[in-house]
Amino acid sequence: MKKIIYLILLISLLIFSYFYFINKDEKSILSKLDDINEEFYIDDYKIFGTHFNISGCIDKKISNESKIVLVSMDDETDIESTFDITENKSCFYLSSKNNEGLYLDDLKRGSYLLLVKEINNQDVKYYTLNNKTNYSSLEYYTITKNNENNKININFESIKNKNYVKIDVVKSKLTDDNYDITIDPGHGGNDVGAIGILNNQKYYESDLTLEIALLLKQELEDLGLKVKLTRENDVNIDYYGDGGRAVIPNEVNSKYSLSIHLNSAQGIMSYGGVEVYTPNDVNLEFAKILAKNISNIVGYSKKPTDKLTNGVYFNYFTKSDIEESNENLKEDGMEPYDIKEGSPYMYMIREVGGVSTYAYQDGRNIEYGLNKYYNSNKTAEPYLIEMAYINYDDDLNQLINNKELFAESIKEAVKEYLNIS
Ligand SMILES: [Zn+2]
Repeated sequence: MKKIIYLILLISLLIFSYFYFINKDEKSILSKLDDINEEFYIDDYKIFGTHFNISGCIDKKISNESKIVLVSMDDETDIESTFDITENKSCFYLSSKNNEGLYLDDLKRGSYLLLVKEINNQDVKYYTLNNKTNYSSLEYYTITKNNENNKININFESIKNKNYVKIDVVKSKLTDDNYDITIDPGHGGNDVGAIGILNNQKYYESDLTLEIALLLKQELEDLGLKVKLTRENDVNIDYYGDGGRAVIPNEVNSKYSLSIHLNSAQGIMSYGGVEVYTPNDVNLEFAKILAKNISNIVGYSKKPTDKLTNGVYFNYFTKSDIEESNENLKEDGMEPYDIKEGSPYMYMIREVGGVSTYAYQDGRNIEYGLNKYYNSNKTAEPYLIEMAYINYDDDLNQLINNKELFAESIKEAVKEYLNIS
């Protein structure tokens, strides 16, 4: 008899808890949503590396006291954003930098709605967001930390005739075909890359990049990261098509792509040093850490062109580059591309970053093949690292004798930037 009474008490307590704790929170969020009857239209959104960006507008003037909020069942968080408000149009965006915006790896598990919150003196009003782009939902796995990942789904849902951006964060292991980071050892096979000579011995870029990439893979795996190499042997691989080195980083959903090369310049070099090439429109933090760490081995490059800051470079299409590229294509009987002035020049940056980096290899020239992620709004954040000059003796000496230092310096940069303990 006593047991039954205890059991009834326990069940009552559970039912009470459910209504008191869970239902209360649901009510508080749903009551907020009941008052919503206007929406912004989304004109762009993307995931680049570990960050989510979104922008949208509404055809009316709203209060300057407006912001973007992430609303969960029991909490509301402000998201850093910028509003441009004119007489008959109001627009917002999270960041003009591709690798800023909402840092996905920081989101706690749960469900969220992304809303616009307008504050007018004492009045508070919420707006929903309606996806008017040609893109649909996105799936993202966070960087592996302590052997754990979250899976994030960004969906566009219609609930009671209102359109929402819904973000669900759940605990989930990385599936077999998902990786944290892709390392691309430049060149390979019959493409040996640049050549250096020391003590009458020849050294090939393709060999040195592979050796350092294999060491780096081990270093990053020791941190718990899942690492994909574009090649593990001395083979030449295409840039595009299935298994292409510019395709792999997105094929395996990696968050970062590091392409590893060695520099070379004509004539006798009076300097060596590191050059880290970045995508367009990015916060330079990661590139700076990479460059600084590698500079401890070989110094910063003294190359003045394309330089953003010590060791950090951005190589882009000028108007004459575009004309030249398209003239060459025409001479070879191929179709010209729609290249944007100021967009990244290097394949392993431009094509890996999809729409964010103005990729254009859409398969119109069969000779090149197709980058099937050229138009993707979810891509890896790519960097190309010219670690040192293979035709500068001091640098080559370090490359031959201290390979592990290069691998370690890149690992330390990844560890610092991604905050891995
Ligand atoms: Zn190279």
